[in-house]
Amino acid sequence: MTSLESLALARGTVDRVTHRRNDTQWLDAAWADPRTRVLVVSDGRALVRFDDDEHVELVFSAPAEAPAGVRFLLGQDADGVVYFGVSGDLLSALSPSPAPAAAGPIRAAWLREVGALLGDRDAGLFTHAVALANWHDTHTHCPLDGTPTIPDPGGHSTRCPVDGTEHFPRTDPAVIMLVTDPDDRCLLARNAAWPGRRVSILAGFVEPGESAEQAVIREVAEETQIKVTNVRYVGSQPWPMPRSLMLGFRAEAPAGQAIAVDREEIAEAYWFSRDELLAAIKAREIALPPSVSIARHIIEAWFGGPLPSTWPEALGPRPPGR
Ligand SMILES: [Zn+2]
Repeated sequence: MTSLESLALARGTVDRVTHRRNDTQWLDAAWADPRTRVLVVSDGRALVRFDDDEHVELVFSAPAEAPAGVRFLLGQDADGVVYFGVSGDLLSALSPSPAPAAAGPIRAAWLREVGALLGDRDAGLFTHAVALANWHDTHTHCPLDGTPTIPDPGGHSTRCPVDGTEHFPRTDPAVIMLVTDPDDRCLLARNAAWPGRRVSILAGFVEPGESAEQAVIREVAEETQIKVTNVRYVGSQPWPMPRSLMLGFRAEAPAGQAIAVDREEIAEAYWFSRDELLAAIKAREIALPPSVSIARHIIEAWFGGPLPSTWPEALGPRPPGR
C-alpha cells in the first residue's frame, strides 16, 4: 500500500486565499457582493439539502441573510465566488425565504453524517468551517489574562486587546494505525465506549514532545501490549470533531506476542485474516467504521478493496460467541 486516496474530509476545490485574510477592503467588498455564499455552522451542524442519495449539497445563505456570529473567510472558487463561514443560529439561516418548492428536503446535518456524501467543494468547505467554528466557540478569551479576544478580519486568528497576543486555531494531532502480524492478519479492537459491535484499528493522541511514530508504538503497546516495528505513514485527514488531525500509519507486530487489552479503554482486540474479516462482517458479528473515517480507508487498503457497508442493527447488542 502506498498512500490513501479520496479521503472524505481531505477534499476541497476552493482556494483559501490566505493573503486576503487581513485585507479589510477586499473582505468588505466580498461581503457586500450578493454572489458571496455563507455557510452557517451551529454546534457542528450545517444546513444540507438531500435531493436523493446521489445529490447531497450544502445550503448557503446570502450575506444579507446570515445570522449574527463570528465570521471567517473560507476562500474563493475558480469563478470568483467568495465563501464565508459564520458560527451562528441555523434557523435564521433558513429565513426569510423557505426553500424553493423544487428543492429537496433541507435539514441540519453533522459533518460525520454527510462528509462522504457531499461533493469535493462542499466537503472541503464544511470541514474547514466546522474546524474554525469549533475553535471560535471554545476559545473566546485570552489564555494569559482572561480578556475576551477579538477575531482578526479573516477570522483565522484572534488578538487580545490588552496585551496584544495573537492566538491561532488549535489542531490536535492523533495517530491511527493498522497493525499486521507475520501472517498479514490485521489487528482490530473494540473501544469500551463504542456502541454494539463496532470495531476499528487502534488510535490515540500524540503527546507533547512526542513524534507521531513514537505515539504509534506507545499507543499500540498501551492498548494491547503488542510491540510494533516498521512504522510507516500512509496519509491523513482532518477530523474537526472537535479539532483533530488524523495521521494514518501501518505498523508490523513481530511474531510471538499475545494480545492483552486493558479492558477500560479497549474492551477486546483480535487478529483478523481477510477471509475472517469478510465473514465476520457478513455474519454481522462486527461493524466497521463508516466511510467518512480514515480508519475505514486504511482497513480497505489493507483488505484490497471495498468492504460491505455497516448495517444499523450491527450497532445493537453483541451476540455471544465471538
Ligand atoms: Zn491577554
